[in-house]
Amino acid sequence: MKRCKSCLFYADVADMICPVCGIHQDKPKKELTNAEKRIRYAARGIRSASLLHIIGGVVLLCMLPMWLSPVLKHGLTNEMHPLLFTGIIVYTFAMAVALLVLAVGLRKYAKWAYYMAAVTYGIIFVMNLLNPNIGLLIVVLCAYYIGNKNARAIFNRAMKSSNQALHATSEPAPDAASSSHES
Ligand SMILES: [Zn+2]
Repeated sequence: MKRCKSCLFYADVADMICPVCGIHQDKPKKELTNAEKRIRYAARGIRSASLLHIIGGVVLLCMLPMWLSPVLKHGLTNEMHPLLFTGIIVYTFAMAVALLVLAVGLRKYAKWAYYMAAVTYGIIFVMNLLNPNIGLLIVVLCAYYIGNKNARAIFNRAMKSSNQALHATSEPAPDAASSSHES
């Protein structure tokens, strides 16, 4: 297992061609074709989005004690309904966990992360529509990073290569099969 120089995916690049981005490992960056450059850019975009998710998840987790501690000390103010407050806390915690899980999946170019991103962005988008803020802009940027044509091609190839790896390990080696026949 080696890390691809272009998309940073850990893969078996035995034939020097990455199964995820399809770029030859010995090819210098300036010799890449336009299509290869677009794929490389898309891969880096997905990884940038993953980093934004880690930052977002950590920020949300840090906000929880900030909101909780005054309420635990002095109780809720009259304007805030206890149910609404609980809802906000549960939503924030769930979102933080979702963002961190998503960050891990995106770094591996996992297809489930692609679908999870679509659902998570949809929820964040709707929740922030009432109160437009910088989060909305970041979600739109991440949606572009994950959803563009080249990024989708990367997710599809990553899934195919992991399926092949799974298939290769589940298939018994020829000598192992013959020895099980004897027993
Ligand atoms: Zn690659």
